[in-house]
Amino acid sequence: MEKEWDVLIVGAGLYGATCAHELSQKGYRCLVLEKRPHIGGNCYTENRDGINLHLYGAHIFHTSNQRVWDWINQFATFNHYHHRVKVDYNGKRYSFPFNMETFYQLWGVKTPEEAARKLEEVRVKNAPDTLEGYALSQIGHDLYETFIKCYTEKQWGRAPDLLPSSIIKRIPVRLTYNDSYFDDTHQGIPIGGYTPIIEKLLSKSEVRTGVDYLAQRAEFDASAKRILYTGPIDEFAERRFGQLLYRSVHFKHRRLEIPDFQGTSVINYTSKDIPYTRILEHKHFEFTAGPITWISEEYSGAHSKESEPMYPVRDTENLEKLRKYQEFLSGNDYSNYFFGGRLAEYLYYDMHQAIGGALKKAEAIASSLT
Ligand code: UDP
Repeated sequence: MEKEWDVLIVGAGLYGATCAHELSQKGYRCLVLEKRPHIGGNCYTENRDGINLHLYGAHIFHTSNQRVWDWINQFATFNHYHHRVKVDYNGKRYSFPFNMETFYQLWGVKTPEEAARKLEEVRVKNAPDTLEGYALSQIGHDLYETFIKCYTEKQWGRAPDLLPSSIIKRIPVRLTYNDSYFDDTHQGIPIGGYTPIIEKLLSKSEVRTGVDYLAQRAEFDASAKRILYTGPIDEFAERRFGQLLYRSVHFKHRRLEIPDFQGTSVINYTSKDIPYTRILEHKHFEFTAGPITWISEEYSGAHSKESEPMYPVRDTENLEKLRKYQEFLSGNDYSNYFFGGRLAEYLYYDMHQAIGGALKKAEAIASSLT
């Protein structure tokens, strides 16, 4: 019997939507199922009081991948937003990531040579290959305490000496006054937010929101030639090798009747006594003017049934479980299934990486159908 759909895509986040676009452009009939009441996954933005709110946290598009940049620019115009973050520690403000301004604020040093000398003095030699060890080997004890220790504990819910160094390697230490958060060739915020991009990507597919694929799996699977699953991989395989650990974040969104709360989009709170990790002020992403502002306090917590899985905890134990899931799902029974995205690959993906991965996955799915 002819199947109703060529490809069933589970998840209408950026990864699923990118694949839906590529496949539907090629003429494949795609059905996209989404558990949440809206599309866009964590990129979802919503307009309130004329401000586009990043309801699941700050999403700054940045990439050095020209193919991805050209691709995303078909669907949006990006503004000139350039991500810069300030740190608040015990009520004092610092420039971040580590740069000459930070070293001046902390040590009063003015030249790269002085800063290099000071760093050499404080660096811990032969530190272990953990998040804590790596940080100490780069910046020493004082800077580690001020910028990293408590923030990391709040964000990951465990001691930094039990976390992999890979998490912190994205934070540069620069001996220049460059305080840019990212080093990429391209960055910006899509004017109008991310939701219109996802709408365009899904415009040629059938989309059903508020649908739990796993609860009606047999029926859906029977309706499609191929299935692309972008949800948590352990849930797909009924957690037979145990639960994969994710950290979650939740937000307290507040509407304030003032034009500007903090003068910038993101301030990180690195001291212990402040329960949230950062405050976002959404109007700064798109330079929106007006008498109202929206801010969001970001709190990290364990992932539970009520929360969204966000950050994979890629420690040895969880990576071993992941390997078992991947091996199990590479078997013949799953030859019509494809897996991809932050949750299915258990990867700490940025948006440009999700798109890059999805473009390749869509090609693989298309060639499996020809
Ligand atoms: N980090 C920190 N203090 C900060 C910012 C980051 O200790 O002020 C650490 C923390 O462990 C975090 C990691 O660096 O998980 C990576 O930070 P990034 O800002 O890239 O994380 P994301 O924005 O993806 O949450």
